[in-house]
Amino acid sequence: MVWQLNSYTWHKREKVVYFDSIFSMISFVMPEETKKQPTIDDIISLCKRRGFVFQSSEIYGGFAAVYDYGPYGVELANNIKQAWWKAMVQMREDIVGLDASIFMSPKVWEASGHVSGFSDPMAECKQCQTRSRVDHLLETAGITADEKMSEEEINALLTEHMAEVRCPKCGQSDFSEAKNFNLLVQSNLGDFTDKGEDPVYLRGETCQGIYVNYRNVMSSSRVKIPFGVAQIGKAFRNEITARQFIFRTREFEQMEMQYFTHPEQEMEEYEKLREARWQYYIDLGIKPENLQWHKHENLVFYAKEAYDIEYNFSFGWKELEGVHARGDYDLTQHAKASGQDLNYTDGKTNETFVPHIVESSVGVGRTMLMVLTDAYTEEEVGDGSRVVLKLHKSLVPIQVAVFPLLRNKPDLVAKAHGVFDQLKEDFRCEFDDNGNVGKRYRRQDEIGTPYCVTVDFESLEDGMVTVRDRDTMEQERVAITDLNSYFADKL
Ligand code: ATP
Repeated sequence: MVWQLNSYTWHKREKVVYFDSIFSMISFVMPEETKKQPTIDDIISLCKRRGFVFQSSEIYGGFAAVYDYGPYGVELANNIKQAWWKAMVQMREDIVGLDASIFMSPKVWEASGHVSGFSDPMAECKQCQTRSRVDHLLETAGITADEKMSEEEINALLTEHMAEVRCPKCGQSDFSEAKNFNLLVQSNLGDFTDKGEDPVYLRGETCQGIYVNYRNVMSSSRVKIPFGVAQIGKAFRNEITARQFIFRTREFEQMEMQYFTHPEQEMEEYEKLREARWQYYIDLGIKPENLQWHKHENLVFYAKEAYDIEYNFSFGWKELEGVHARGDYDLTQHAKASGQDLNYTDGKTNETFVPHIVESSVGVGRTMLMVLTDAYTEEEVGDGSRVVLKLHKSLVPIQVAVFPLLRNKPDLVAKAHGVFDQLKEDFRCEFDDNGNVGKRYRRQDEIGTPYCVTVDFESLEDGMVTVRDRDTMEQERVAITDLNSYFADKL
C-alpha cells in the first residue's frame, strides 16, 4: 500500500513517492482487478493507442487481413520469437536452426500436396456476395465441420443446415454451393512472359523449407536421429475470411520445429513434445485455465495423431498451436518427387529407414494476441481505473522506463539521461519526459513496463531514485549505483 500524488512528493525517511493523480492523495491504493477477459475491441484499441499493431496501408483505407507492428509491437514480437528460439534451439542439444527462403521451387508445393489440396471450403452469400469459409460458418451455428472434409461432405452439411447458417455481413441464409479454394499465394518471380503460366508460390508454411533441407542439415552438422530443425519465418495464405485481427492474417510469421525420429520412436517423441509445448506456455506465465488440448478427430490420411493447443480468446477457444505426428509422409513425398534418397542410415545398427516426423507449429501473431489477451488487466486504483499489461518479464517491450521528474529542469534531465545510459546496455530502456509522472506511469502500464525510475531533485543530492513496480505500484528508493544489480535480480 502506498500514497500516490501527481508530481508532488511525499517524503518519509528514505521514501519519495510520485502520485498518479491529485485524487490519489486522499486514498490508499491497492490495485484491484475489475474485469477478467478483455474483448477483442479492448485489445485492438490498446494496440492502436500504444503502437503495438497498425492496420496495413491505413492512410489508403487499409489492406484486408494484413497488419503492421508498431514500435512496441515489433519489440514484443521479437521477444516472443527470442523466447521460442531459446526454448526450442538454444536450450536443446538435439535441435538446430534454419532460415530457408520464402520462395522455393514450385515442385516443392506440388510434391507436398499444396498445389492440389491446400484449400478451404468457400461459399458466397447470394444476397450480398460476401465470401465465407463454410467450416467456420457451420461452426458458428454449432455444427461440427472442418476444412479437411471433402466438397461433398461439406456441401451435404451446408444444405442440411442452410437455415441455421447466417452470412456474417447481411445475416441472410442463402449461400452458393461450397467450393474448395486453394490458399497458396502466387507470384510471377522469375517469369518474364507476362502470361503467368509458370507460377511460383509464396510459401504457405515454413516447414517445407525444413523437409527439403533435412539432408543438408544432417550431412553438415553433428545431429543424429532423433533430432529437430527449427525455423521462424513468414508464410502467406489467401485466407478467405480474416476478421479476427492478428489471429488470422494473409501474411504471417510461423515458428515451426520438425523433429525427425525412428519410426518406432515417433509416438514417444510426440508425447515429449506435447509436454514440452504445454510447459513452455505455463513458463511464459499464460494462465493455465485459458489453455486446453483439442484432439483432431478427422485426421489427414498420413497423420498418426494430431492435437492443437487452444487458447480461450475473447471470440472463443481457438487453435494457438498444432502439435502433430506426421509419420513418414513428408520425406517420402519429397524423395519420390525429387528422385533423391532421403533415407537415414543408423551408423551403429546399419538400419535404413525414412524418418518419421513430429512437429510443433505456431504463429507469432497468434501468440502475440494470446499474450496481450492474457496480460490485459483493468484495475481500480483509488482515483479511477488503469489498464495494465501484466506481461511476463521476458516478453515486455520495455523493461525499465527512466523519467526526469520535470522536463524543463536541465539538471534533472541530464541526470536522468545518465541513468538511461547506465542501464541501456543491460536492459531494454526508454527515456520518457512527456506529461506528468502520473501520465507516464499510465502509459508504461499499458505498454507493460515492469519498472519506472524517476530522477528528482533529491536524486541530485543523495544519488537515489524512485523505482515504481508495475504490478504492486509500490515505490522504493534505490541508489543509482545499485540500479543495474537491482534490476538484474528482478528481470
Ligand atoms: P486454422 O485452422 O486456424 O486455419 P491451420 O490448422 O490451417 O489453422 P496450420 O497450418 O496448422 O494452421 O498452421 C500452424 C500454426 O500457424 C497455427 O496453429 C497458427 O498459430 C499459425 N497460423 C496458421 N494460419 C495462420 C494465419 N492465417 N494467420 C496467423 N497465424 C496462422
